[in-house]
Amino acid sequence: MSRRMTRREAIAMGGFAVAATAATVISAGAVDEKKENMKMTAPEKDPAMLPGTFADGQYTLPKLPYPLDALEPAYDKRTVEIHHDKHHAGYVKGLNATLAKLDDARKAGKFEDIKALSRDLAFNGSGHVLHSLFWHSMTPGGGKCEGDLEKAMAESFGSAKAGMDQFAAATNAVEGGGWGVLAWEPAANKLLVLQAEKHQNLTVWGAVPLLVCDVWEHAYYLKYANVRGDWVKAFMTIANWPFAAARLAAARKMCRMM
Ligand code: FE
Repeated sequence: MSRRMTRREAIAMGGFAVAATAATVISAGAVDEKKENMKMTAPEKDPAMLPGTFADGQYTLPKLPYPLDALEPAYDKRTVEIHHDKHHAGYVKGLNATLAKLDDARKAGKFEDIKALSRDLAFNGSGHVLHSLFWHSMTPGGGKCEGDLEKAMAESFGSAKAGMDQFAAATNAVEGGGWGVLAWEPAANKLLVLQAEKHQNLTVWGAVPLLVCDVWEHAYYLKYANVRGDWVKAFMTIANWPFAAARLAAARKMCRMM
């Protein structure tokens, strides 16, 4: 099921040239206005809607979509077992623990540890999201690139093969720990190959920005010099929450994937 983005939604998604045309075809997914809340779809029901494993206020470790040894010999059973049951489970545990600590901090109004907690949130959150995607990024025997994806790869990279070559090269060249990522960029409706060095450097993958405040020095130095706090305080007096609300509504319709 797909539909055209309305002009309002397009504008809400923020300043992209393509948005003005309101012509970006988007997948409405399981759009149902009444069910439009944070309820997540179980990945078992629709693999494309992964990895929203969230129940009773807690993120949960998603089940593997195949038996532990299903990817042999390319990916061995023992590694899959440790990777999923220990490493991925650790991210899920860390994410829930960090969210609980953030909850405590908000209730107490004490944000002394906010920097460390924000880092923990990004580290564990991205770890969980990317690993959830990772398990579904593999299938026994591999799957073909065809149809709309093949067309998008050809439009974005010249050909599906060229896109795959770029994906493999970029992934192989990630410095240190990280990920190779094939992503869809909505402004240009284009596919991109990205490297995620230490996944937490890029915050929580899949999270859609709704409201942002620039604290690079160029954003406030002329007026506030080195007193960033004054700039942030001032920003909060001009923050456009209706814009964030419009983006939230648009994002919930489009991005039922995380
Ligand atoms: Fe991993």
